[in-house]
Amino acid sequence: MGSHATECGAWPSGPEDLAPRKIEGLPDDRGYQYYWGYNRMTTLDGLFCAGDACGANPHKFSSGSFTEGRLAGKSAVLYVMDHSDEKVEVDKAQVDSLIAKVMEPLERYQKGKYSVVTGPSYMHPIDPTKMYWKQGLFRLQKIMDECAGGWSNYYMTNEVMLNRGLELLQFLKEDFLNYAAAQDWHELMRVWELWHRILAAEAVVRHMLFRKETRWPGYYVRADYPALDDENWHVFVNSRYDAKTGQWELWKVPVIHIIEFP
Ligand SMILES: Cc1cc2nc3c(=O)[nH]c(=O)nc-3n(C[C@H](O)[C@H](O)[C@H](O)COP(=O)(O)OP(=O)(O)OC[C@H]3O[C@@H](n4cnc5c(N)ncnc54)[C@H](O)[C@@H]3O)c2cc1C
Repeated sequence: MGSHATECGAWPSGPEDLAPRKIEGLPDDRGYQYYWGYNRMTTLDGLFCAGDACGANPHKFSSGSFTEGRLAGKSAVLYVMDHSDEKVEVDKAQVDSLIAKVMEPLERYQKGKYSVVTGPSYMHPIDPTKMYWKQGLFRLQKIMDECAGGWSNYYMTNEVMLNRGLELLQFLKEDFLNYAAAQDWHELMRVWELWHRILAAEAVVRHMLFRKETRWPGYYVRADYPALDDENWHVFVNSRYDAKTGQWELWKVPVIHIIEFP
């Protein structure tokens, strides 16, 4: 929930009138910069975000989110107008392979529906060869609660727990790819929602692991770094996931105060 408190979300370009231009000493990569032409455009060309989807800006709440939505919408229209003569070429083979991937859980259920041990179809059957979305969701919630500063640990975690969380998330990802099954379209949507939640959860854990301090104790405490450390951590932490290699990259970006309060 980026806009309410945690500042998490996509890293977009700032507005033309206020965003700092190129900062000396920082790479040209958009992940290190503050402005690249279209307000609220993420580091991906043509992808815009607002509200909870948009990072580096807490306490927007509902009114800030919809105001930002208006800004992002106007900016996206501008982008479309500026690029109206571009032709979009769709790679049919890539589309077909994505469709096959998305449908896999439905096929897995159909192929193996006679291995269901017990349970009516409107609930989640007991089945050693498949993972249904709710089972995966409960497993994800347990991992995040116990390892990533959930309520059952009094919102506390540390490096050992976070690394254990990453290990368990990896097992969950492997099980998802091999066993995720859906009985109908609704469950298919739930299954992919689960996958996106798993990726978001992994991003959260990796960011908590990277930030070696406790910034807002009300949200979570790193028991191994229980104090605020402005000298080293008055920064944003940006990250990038490489879907091809499965690797994450994390780095610090300075917080630049555009408005100075007296
Ligand atoms: C417990 C809680 C209390 C809060 N209290 C307050 C408060 O008192 N005052 C206040 O101002 N703010 C409050 N907020 C914050 C505020 O609700 C949010 O910041 C704001 O609603 C964010 O708006 P949004 O449009 O960015 O995201 P959302 O309102 O989350 O909208 C995102 C929408 O996208 C949909 N969606 C997701 N994935 C897909 C997909 N693949 N395809 C299509 N649609 C999709 C979702 O279903 C959702 O409707 C609170 C938030 C929470 C969680």
